[in-house]
Amino acid sequence: MKSPIFAANWKMNHSPADATAFIRTFLANFGKRQDRSVIFFPPALSFGAVVSALKDRPDIQLGVQNIHWEDKGAFTGENSAPIARGAGAKYVLVGHSERRHVFGETEVETGKKVAAAVRAGLTPVVCVGETLAQREAGETVSVVLGQLRAALGTLSGADAANAVIAYEPVWAIGTGRNATPADASAVHHAIRAELHAFLPSGSLAVPILYGGSVNRGNAADLLAAPEVDGLLVGGASLDAEGWSSIVLT
Ligand code: PEP
Repeated sequence: MKSPIFAANWKMNHSPADATAFIRTFLANFGKRQDRSVIFFPPALSFGAVVSALKDRPDIQLGVQNIHWEDKGAFTGENSAPIARGAGAKYVLVGHSERRHVFGETEVETGKKVAAAVRAGLTPVVCVGETLAQREAGETVSVVLGQLRAALGTLSGADAANAVIAYEPVWAIGTGRNATPADASAVHHAIRAELHAFLPSGSLAVPILYGGSVNRGNAADLLAAPEVDGLLVGGASLDAEGWSSIVLT
């Protein structure tokens, strides 16, 4: 019996006031329950509003969408892992496709961010995924496993066993074209096998989420696929009623 994770990546959406209103509606729909976990990733400036709105719901977790790899210093505009932890984050997205492809984040930087997250006591949600060209060239598994190794390579086995992985094919993010449950499952199996190769006893503890054009209509089928331990949702997490119905899938 799975206890799935539902993670909402709001990207650059929802002001503090919008975020507060969203959480109020969501809490009216979603009572405390043991059989699923919910994580919100609000934009940094709305983070405090969500912390306040969730003050009576410690069952719901929070994460930030990005961190710098240094703990502090002269990096104007950036936020560090210790700052995120101090603000109430438990998770951080690392290696999201928009960080890699819009902001040019490299695999080396992704690895350093994962290490910074772990140093500060944050759980990294490591996002991996191939482009359409890579999929069509038959490179999906090698690309995804390469990203996985680069992200987790500097961690001890115990720290790597505390990570979360999100398989998010780049061609599926924000396009309305999700991976089929079978395609997602196949890549999740490859990720699980790779985790098992360097984390023999801890690999099963690492949840593997699927992300990419998840919506109310496809969430149940994707969640039912073998090795899919939860969903990372962008666009369909922006509407409180719609997100409630996905979380209650
Ligand atoms: C995401 O940004 O992580 C994502 C999965 O986006 P969407 O659900 O909009 O495809």
